[in-house]
Amino acid sequence: MLDQELSAAIDAVRKAALFCHKIRTEKRIRPLVKLDGSPVTNADFGSQAIIAKSLRSIFTTDPIMAEETASVTDFQSSHEFTSELLNDLDSAKASFPTIEALVSTINRDPLDGNAAGTITDSWRNRYWVIDPIDGTKGYLKGGQYAVALGLIESGEVRVAVVACPEFVIPGRHEHGWILFAQLGKGAFAVPLNEDAEPVAIHVRANQPGELLSMCESLNHSPHGTSGQVAANLGIPDQNISKMDSQAKYAAVACGIADMYLRLPTSTSYREAVWDHAAGVLIITEAGGTVTDIDGKPLVWTDSRDWDGNHRFAHGRGVVVTNGQVHQTVLNAIRDVLNDSKD
Ligand code: AMP
Ligand code: MG
Repeated sequence: MLDQELSAAIDAVRKAALFCHKIRTEKRIRPLVKLDGSPVTNADFGSQAIIAKSLRSIFTTDPIMAEETASVTDFQSSHEFTSELLNDLDSAKASFPTIEALVSTINRDPLDGNAAGTITDSWRNRYWVIDPIDGTKGYLKGGQYAVALGLIESGEVRVAVVACPEFVIPGRHEHGWILFAQLGKGAFAVPLNEDAEPVAIHVRANQPGELLSMCESLNHSPHGTSGQVAANLGIPDQNISKMDSQAKYAAVACGIADMYLRLPTSTSYREAVWDHAAGVLIITEAGGTVTDIDGKPLVWTDSRDWDGNHRFAHGRGVVVTNGQVHQTVLNAIRDVLNDSKD
């Protein structure tokens, strides 16, 4: 039923990920700093423009949520940045006639009610969510990064596509993969660079007494606390890997890690919808489980559960596992967090 959405999403994400990969390989990343101090690059804007343009050409009235916002003034003031971006997009077969056309595609308004606090009823029914480059820090430093796209319909993630250009699946020679899923139809991976048959992916089943493995963020994880949780679960240091982006979801979905812990970095931080929507469906379709640290599911469609910036207002942190160990992991987190309160 959603096959058209899935193939459009895979095409758009592949094009965007190859665009990002080319810019990084050619050492032409141009970094900027956002108002909150986090990095953004020419490739983030280009990737978002490619995906938004592709979606808009097919699903003309669907709202699109996305991480980045561009300003015409900034784009005009850096002529070199903008003209190079327009040229690169042209070479990637995503042409924009003017800076204004590029900016308005990146910003997606007025259809999307994109500004803080203006989530309307149409968002409750169906919307797309784009993370044009998740793990921009990894993108800048030669680490993992991802291009993620999800479709939410009636409160559920229905379609998910996550491209990880630096991801490797053990036992396979290809470098760079696209993971995808449709609700109820399983999770699959295809090489980013080749037109090959998709392979079904599954979380790992643990044997009794086997040591578990875990991954977490490099830059956004309280490593002391997560280290205590790992110790309580008997996970040795060499079974903990730190990496950027939703490649961590890919690692659990492909059975490389048993869990991805995203423990709160502060009491005020709220997780953003684009950092999780696509990854969550890929995990659940690969047989795993995702909740917040209290074991509650993430909520995709109720604006009362978001703050004004498309972030989960209530739940804190994210816990991703192969399902089998989920409750054990939640218990270990609860014990460590309770101890740290004493
Ligand atoms: P990762 O690559 O796993 O570190 O995740 C990158 C994402 O972390 C970015 O896209 C941000 O949306 C998000 N982020 C930024 N600050 C924080 C924070 N303090 N705690 C958790 N996530 C954050
Ligand atoms: Mg992100």
